[in-house]
This record gives sequence, structure tokens and C-alpha cells, in this order.
Amino acid sequence: MGEDIPSGARGNALLESFLVPDKHGLLIESLTIRSPAVSQSAPPQLAFCRRSRLEGFSNSPNLLGVIWQALRKRFEAHNEEPPFRDEWIAMLRTNLPLYSRLPESLRATLHQRIARFVASVRFEGCNGLELTEEMILTVAAQACLLVIHREGKPFPKLKNVYLYPSTFSSIQRRTDAMGVVTEGEAHRLGESWRTGTIILAWDSVLRGAREIHDGQNVTFHEFAHELDHEDGSTDGAPELPDRAAYRSWARVFTQSYQDFLDRLHHGQKTVLDPYGATDPAEFFAVATEAFFEKPHPLSKARPELYEELRQYYGLDPREWLS
Ligand SMILES: [Zn+2]
Repeated sequence: MGEDIPSGARGNALLESFLVPDKHGLLIESLTIRSPAVSQSAPPQLAFCRRSRLEGFSNSPNLLGVIWQALRKRFEAHNEEPPFRDEWIAMLRTNLPLYSRLPESLRATLHQRIARFVASVRFEGCNGLELTEEMILTVAAQACLLVIHREGKPFPKLKNVYLYPSTFSSIQRRTDAMGVVTEGEAHRLGESWRTGTIILAWDSVLRGAREIHDGQNVTFHEFAHELDHEDGSTDGAPELPDRAAYRSWARVFTQSYQDFLDRLHHGQKTVLDPYGATDPAEFFAVATEAFFEKPHPLSKARPELYEELRQYYGLDPREWLS
């Protein structure tokens, strides 16, 4: 999807090994990307999601979101029963076909979550992008679908969403297995920073929202990373309710990830985007995209993985996607 990673950066990425933090004393085993062929044959990557220095990153005061502030005030004033205008609903039906497929009760809950989200997260346009209600609500609706059953702030640690008009440039720094650090410019569709910032390219957001069957959705992807960040380690396991849930998640995701790498290594087709082979955190993010956009193929190919995601998100997208 339009990502152009410099060959040097891609090459070094192949040599990275990944030590998954030992969260809660029982989590995922150490894993390494084993096959250079996996990354070399992978299609253009969906997103890089590590914190990086942005070029041309602008906080120009005249772009501070007047539209966002007006929306936020409106939602703050009517927190329990947000005034969801008919034109917003019509816009969501156009931009986010998933929205129309949701049961009516879920749509009503989604409106409430959107209101909380817009009231608690600051939106800003970058590189000349003037935010509109359409942009804010299209991002918010997709983000909030991931946390539709949560009480309180939808994403408690998220502070900012920066929107670029299109693919944006950032500096990608990589350390290879020998400790050699290289830097290169990468063109990105989205980023998620552990410090509470998500950056998205608006054209990619819209494309991902409108096409609901391809398993490619940069908004779901980056907000899944935000969920993964919440417990302090970005390792492919979000915050879960208890030790048994962690144990089950670790077993299912470890097995599924290793099997996924094997299939890619042997050139077999996968439901999940090959970018998930990057590391366990990316695996969780692309699994989330597939869960919401390819629920039937995913549940057939990886029923245990699907079940973990179904329990975590509290939703079963098979019910509204044929
Ligand atoms: Zn990612």
C-alpha cells in the first residue's frame, strides 16, 4: 500500500532478533524472524509503527484543530447522549461500510464511544491538512470499534492523533544483529508511538475504511498497537483480565505466529498480511485487521487465534460480514 522502505533499512530489519518481554512472568517465548526470504518477498509494508523522528512535522498554530475543538465541546456538553447528526451518520455509512452492517444497538454504543474519544484525544492536521468533521469521525469510528465495550476513556493513554494528507516521510533507524545502526527515510501510512501519539495518512485511512474485505486497515492497525502499548510493553499482547487469559493468549499467539512464519517461509498463502512476520506486535496488529475485515477466512484458518481476538474485543464480526 504505497510504502517504500529503503533497501538498506529493509535489509537490516531482516537481521533483527526479537526478545519478547517476560510480561507477568509467563508470556511469549523469545522469537526471531528466521527467513530473510519472508521479508524480501513481502508486499509493500502496511506501516512501520516504531517511534521515529518525523521530517517536516508541523505543529503550526494556524492548523490547530478549530473543527476538532468545536466537536469536542459539543461532545463534552452531551457526554451521555451525544448529539449524532444525521449528516454524520450518512457520512459514516459512506466512508465506513462496516458501520452500516453493525447491529443498531452497537451503533448507538459506538456513538457514545466516539463522543468520549473525540473529547479526550486531540486531533491535529499536519503538512497543511485542514481537519474536517469527516476526517475526525472516520478515524474515531474505526478506533472506537476496537474498544466499544470499554468503560471510561476509550484509549486512556492516547493523547494525540496527527493526520497527514497522504503518505508521510519519517526517518527509520534500525540496529542489526551486529549492533550497526543505519538510518533511512521511509514513507509511511501510519505510526503508533508508545508516548501516546498516533499518526495517520488520511488517504490511507479512507481507503482502509471503504474497503472492508481486504484485511488492510491502517486505523485498526495503529490503534491495535495503542492497545498493545497500554501495559507498558509492545509485544503482541494487550492488557488482559487475568493470568489465565495471558496464559491462553501466549500459547495461541506463539503457536500461531510460529506457524505463520513457517507458512511464509515455504511460500504458502496466508490470510494474514505478511507484514505480520515483522515481530509479534505487528502480528497482533495485522491479526486485528483480519479479524474485523476477514473474519470468516481467519476463523477457518486459525480458529484459536480468532477466538482469542473475539474474546478480547468482545465482538464477533462474522455476525455482520458475510
Ligand atoms: Zn504496525
